[in-house]
Amino acid sequence: MKTRSGAQLAQLLAEKGIKNSLVLETIANTPRALFVPASLTHQAFENTALPIGQRQTISQPYTVARMTELLLEKVGKDSRVLEIGTGSGYQTAILASIFDQVCSVERIKTLQFQAKRRMNQLDLHNVKMKHSDGWLGWASKSPFDAIIVTAAASKMPQALLEQLADGGRLVIPIGDTEQRLMCMDKIDEQVNEQVIEQVNFVPLVSGEVL
Ligand code: SAH
Repeated sequence: MKTRSGAQLAQLLAEKGIKNSLVLETIANTPRALFVPASLTHQAFENTALPIGQRQTISQPYTVARMTELLLEKVGKDSRVLEIGTGSGYQTAILASIFDQVCSVERIKTLQFQAKRRMNQLDLHNVKMKHSDGWLGWASKSPFDAIIVTAAASKMPQALLEQLADGGRLVIPIGDTEQRLMCMDKIDEQVNEQVIEQVNFVPLVSGEVL
């Protein structure tokens, strides 16, 4: 089915198993066309990842919705959320529409710059952005009630676990060719792991920022 509006996309995601009505409503109201290259706006509301330049992609809407729903299972809307991998800023905008505060880290400066402009266009002023290596998290703003990583890590970044508040949840794809979406819940300084489903993300790159 070709979905041509936020409302149609939200309906499709509901059919695919997304249950949280706040997530579905936010998907319906977020103009994904603003986050894709002009040549791809005709596909903006389809449930697919799309190229955004710099060999990166805007995530598949189903995955964006699923990860957001997983955070909301555990933490309230009054939370402070850390996102690693701003990319187009689409997931950032969904988070900022739901949660009180969002901090987002991106290693490619040009993508971060575009994403920042889009937040202003949508009047989302509760987002702080940092141009840095996401493996390190954002220590000076920690702890975070929730952390979401939108690129696949080869192993669990320890800094992120350290920056997660007690009672908080971290959602992260782990693996190289075979990636699994994981939920990590921190309770009394112990971490409980849960495998959610198979996913397909670009890699969380180590080292130098661009
Ligand atoms: N949620 C974004 C996903 C973009 S793809 C969207 O839907 O648009 C993943 C992003 O993670 C890319 O922009 C990539 O540059 C970024 N990334 C990869 N490794 C990173 C790292 N170590 N630190 C910060 N960002 C990183």
